[in-house]
Amino acid sequence: MQFLQNVSLKSKTTLQMRSNAAWYGEARSAEDVLEAVMFARERQLPILVLGGGSNLVLSSDIDGLVLANRISGCELTNEKVRLGAGENWHEFVSQATRQGIGGFENLALIPGNVGAAPMQNIGAYGLELADRFISLNAINLDSGESVTFDRSDCRFGYRESLFKQERLWCIISMELEPSDELRASYPGVHSWLQDHELEATHESIYKAVCEIRTSKLPDVLSHPNAGSFFKNPVVAVSVSEALQQSYPSLPSFPDSTGVKLSAAWLIEQAGLKGTAEGGFLVSEQHALVITHDGTSHFAELHRLIDRIRSRVLERFGVELEVEPTIYPG
Ligand SMILES: Cc1cc2nc3c(=O)[nH]c(=O)nc-3n(C[C@H](O)[C@H](O)[C@H](O)COP(=O)(O)OP(=O)(O)OC[C@H]3O[C@@H](n4cnc5c(N)ncnc54)[C@H](O)[C@@H]3O)c2cc1C
Repeated sequence: MQFLQNVSLKSKTTLQMRSNAAWYGEARSAEDVLEAVMFARERQLPILVLGGGSNLVLSSDIDGLVLANRISGCELTNEKVRLGAGENWHEFVSQATRQGIGGFENLALIPGNVGAAPMQNIGAYGLELADRFISLNAINLDSGESVTFDRSDCRFGYRESLFKQERLWCIISMELEPSDELRASYPGVHSWLQDHELEATHESIYKAVCEIRTSKLPDVLSHPNAGSFFKNPVVAVSVSEALQQSYPSLPSFPDSTGVKLSAAWLIEQAGLKGTAEGGFLVSEQHALVITHDGTSHFAELHRLIDRIRSRVLERFGVELEVEPTIYPG
């Protein structure tokens, strides 16, 4: 495995922050990951594992080893799916749907790689990774130990997992369980199927999700961004009821721990769409997305994050939490 020095990461994340890695390497196997662990240990370097860079905000240069996970592997059957962490997530969903292997179609077009999917328990249109998860194999970045985690080990929550909390693991591979279940009741998907006079099938849901996402979200190539910048806040039922009294159009969804509110709605109603700091802009197309023209620094993004959080807190009394990983944090 090759280790390169002083590598620009700008084109390796979808938000295109300017950042250089002191060391950079690409792992194509579990053995490469072990070699990288040894390399970093000898030099006392912290390791940042990189997938597709679509959920990562680089806040400065990185004085450590950036380890890009490029481990391939894709075995699909109707009973089980086994994937290497470096595979592209959407390509897997697309291939599975084409082959009639269902249960993943709601998660179509989520950018990034397989290995990052458990990090924040990716979710969209009424489905989360945890709903189809069997197990994963990961290497401990301190000890080099290889461990298998089943679902109960992973502490999956809303955009949360053990791996996001500990940042101690390099995920190598993952097993998922296909399903015949059709999840078509999510409002946007349901109305798209009605408008197109289509029965719910794995293929039609896949098509609906792809079309809705393409029309709603700014394209990362022309408008660099990291997807939803804030989590949808979960509040107590009493807080949600009080807010609904004053703002009946506030979208809300029941959640196992309370009521989930639409962060996009809160940001838009706080008058923040189109607000800018340097080259960072709250997208006019979708209030939850911050776009970047590729020229600015984290200090400006930080000011914009503060402005959004304090305005929403002032106006609605609700705290917003940043969704992507900020590194170094
Ligand atoms: C336009 C757009 C739309 C999006 N829509 C959604 C959505 O609908 N739902 C959703 O949940 N997310 C969404 N996201 C966020 C993002 O796509 C997901 O979080 C995705 O899983 C990130 O994958 P990645 O490979 O790009 O991860 P990266 O950005 O490379 O990394 C993200 C985090 O995971 C860690 N990581 C990456 N690979 C590994 C590994 N193999 N082992 C251990 N740690 C690892 C990194 O260190 C980092 O902390 C969206 C992003 C964009 C840009």
